[in-house]
Amino acid sequence: MLIYDVTKEELIEFLKAHDFKKYRAEQVWHWLYKQKITAFNEMLNMPKELIELLEQNYSLQALELVIKHKSQDGTLKCLYSLHDGHLIESVLMRQHYGNSICVTTQVGCNIGCSFCASGQLKKKRDLTAGEIIAQIIDTERELKERINYVVVMGIGEPFDNYENLLRFLSIINDPKGLSIGARHITVSTSGIVPKIKEYAHMGMQVNLAISLHAPNNEIRTKLMKINQAYPVEEVIDAIRYYLKVANRRVTIEYILIDEVNDMESVAKELVTVLRGLNVYVNLIPYNEVIEAPYKRSKMESQLKFYDILKKNRIQVTLRKEQGHDINAACGQLRSQHL
Ligand code: SAH
Ligand code: SF4
Repeated sequence: MLIYDVTKEELIEFLKAHDFKKYRAEQVWHWLYKQKITAFNEMLNMPKELIELLEQNYSLQALELVIKHKSQDGTLKCLYSLHDGHLIESVLMRQHYGNSICVTTQVGCNIGCSFCASGQLKKKRDLTAGEIIAQIIDTERELKERINYVVVMGIGEPFDNYENLLRFLSIINDPKGLSIGARHITVSTSGIVPKIKEYAHMGMQVNLAISLHAPNNEIRTKLMKINQAYPVEEVIDAIRYYLKVANRRVTIEYILIDEVNDMESVAKELVTVLRGLNVYVNLIPYNEVIEAPYKRSKMESQLKFYDILKKNRIQVTLRKEQGHDINAACGQLRSQHL
């Protein structure tokens, strides 16, 4: 088992069962998450018996680097192989406000959105919490810098791997763990309604982003077949519920695809759907992928769409894409490799 899969409480219990005191678990965590050791025998102040115990029961290596890709703006994409040979990827983006990493939560994705490179590859399995954490730790080691922001927007649907997601969030947020502030973490979902409602009660101040991509069921179902199970009205209802319970603003992700969801009439419809909700719309120019027939929205349409939202006092930003030259939309490095 991967040591990063273990919560502090579980480690305390495990060590207690082997007659080690509680503070030893805290020391181990310090070595893991602050020093970022790559072997247990790097823990200098620990008894030999404890190091051996950990060596016999846990592993420290989750990922093997297959390809590393750096673009001019500093974006770093890493393709990794898991212990069972499955491939995943993470993307590090250099922002003016700090280092931000996009992590993968599943091998493939079963939601199967028609525009997404990852969605064309059926899910092979969920990642464990530790395998998601390792993407951050390995990148920090590579950069020799801290990562300040985490977006759960890589391959996979995080709410389809819910237990591991929560475990992951609690370990990276723990001040004794990676100590990444909850407000610096964003989880993105395709809109699994019951999970959005459950998530509203989870108690951490983590940001939530919903991939809406269309204001009506006709367009949304074309893009996201999950819309048949959870249509726009239900997603909006779930957002309303979340806003009430968690009392935190929600991000609406909206990729702009040429002549599919970027028309003026669609922008106006989106205004109507979102009116009165404490949301903020992140417009993302679509990254074209070979697996899908869609084209990026023209610059003129992007700006027009943005203006309509803005004029109607919907909070909105238009993202300038990053790492375009290395296919930064998560999942593309992997699908090309396969
Ligand atoms: N499964 C989750 C999180 C991973 S996808 C979700 O769908 O929200 C993260 C974001 O990237 C989603 O908003 C998704 O719609 C978007 N995305 C996927 N493929 C893209 C592409 N080719 N260009 C731009 N955004 C894309
Ligand atoms: Fe899965 Fe998200 Fe891609 Fe849809 S956009 S297929 S939910 S990873």
